[in-house]
Amino acid sequence: MRFMKSSARSLSGRNALLAAALGLFALAGLTAQPAMAEERAKDLFGAEKLPTATAPQSFGFYSKGCFAGGVAIPMDGPTWQVMRPSRNRRWGHPAMIALIERLSRDAVADGWPGLLIGDIAQPRGGPMLTGHASHQIGLDADIWLTPMPDRTMTRAQRESMSATLMVDEKTHLVKDALWTPQHTALLKRAASYPQVERILVNPGIKKKLCDTVKGDRTWLRKIRPFWGHDYHFHMRIGCQPGSPTCKGQEATPDDDGCGKPLAWWFTEEPWRPNKNPDAPKARDVMTMANLPKECRAVLDAPGPPSAEAATYHGGAVPVAVAGPEPETPSQPTAPASDGDLPGAANAFAATPRMGAPVPRPRPPVN
Ligand SMILES: [Zn+2]
Repeated sequence: MRFMKSSARSLSGRNALLAAALGLFALAGLTAQPAMAEERAKDLFGAEKLPTATAPQSFGFYSKGCFAGGVAIPMDGPTWQVMRPSRNRRWGHPAMIALIERLSRDAVADGWPGLLIGDIAQPRGGPMLTGHASHQIGLDADIWLTPMPDRTMTRAQRESMSATLMVDEKTHLVKDALWTPQHTALLKRAASYPQVERILVNPGIKKKLCDTVKGDRTWLRKIRPFWGHDYHFHMRIGCQPGSPTCKGQEATPDDDGCGKPLAWWFTEEPWRPNKNPDAPKARDVMTMANLPKECRAVLDAPGPPSAEAATYHGGAVPVAVAGPEPETPSQPTAPASDGDLPGAANAFAATPRMGAPVPRPRPPVN
């Protein structure tokens, strides 16, 4: 969902104050009450820089949960580039990351120049310091509706490049000059994967599809109108095997969703100003007590030695298992050879050094 710059700024200021206050209390030994239960979950999860080095598992719901065993999508691939890298949100359940890579390849084959990848999840998921109610269990990803440029962007360009606003903010209709058949093909391809349950788009985009898609329209069922999502679409996959406490969402109705529910979005009601704009958002007040109990263990679990060690490099979906170092003498790490990686590299085993840049430490949230 949409990232709000202005609120982010004031929130980070408050976070800094809170962090400072907590630090002082700790120093002065004034924490008489156990503070953990009251600690805001977004501060704890937002501070995690690496995933857990444990088996992949999602806990809870898309908007109230966390996940273990995350992997990162590399900053660059032949058919994608990661945007806003300083946010450190290129993490997801391995099945999600593998699917994004697949979509990027299929989309290029369909005539889309490549994916610009927005927020996926924090390394261990959980509520975020800024933006997004969901994206907490590694099964949501935002993909820009702006085609990938034909050059590799610098870090600075990835932080500053603007996405294209596809929808007129007054009429809530797609800007016809910007919409192309390739946009439609990209959404159709994303919806074609059985594991994708929903794709959130702006109501104007849903309407454009409803008005123009000919032939097979069954995939429109998965395309769901929602506020925002006018620069990017949001792809959500279902709970994955190995996650018994992951809570699925209701199935979407069987029809194409182009009738009455869509018409509601073109009434005045959904766009009325928020009566209580200063009311805190759920993610801002969530404590650890609000999250599945496993999320405490997720915070405490050991991580991989580096982000690169938990970066997905294609092949089979990696299954990461934490454990003691193997007793058999480990093979010496192969000398560096750029881009030459085992096809099914374990996400947390030592991997040869890559040509791809190692992610920078996360700068303070801005
Ligand atoms: Zn999203």
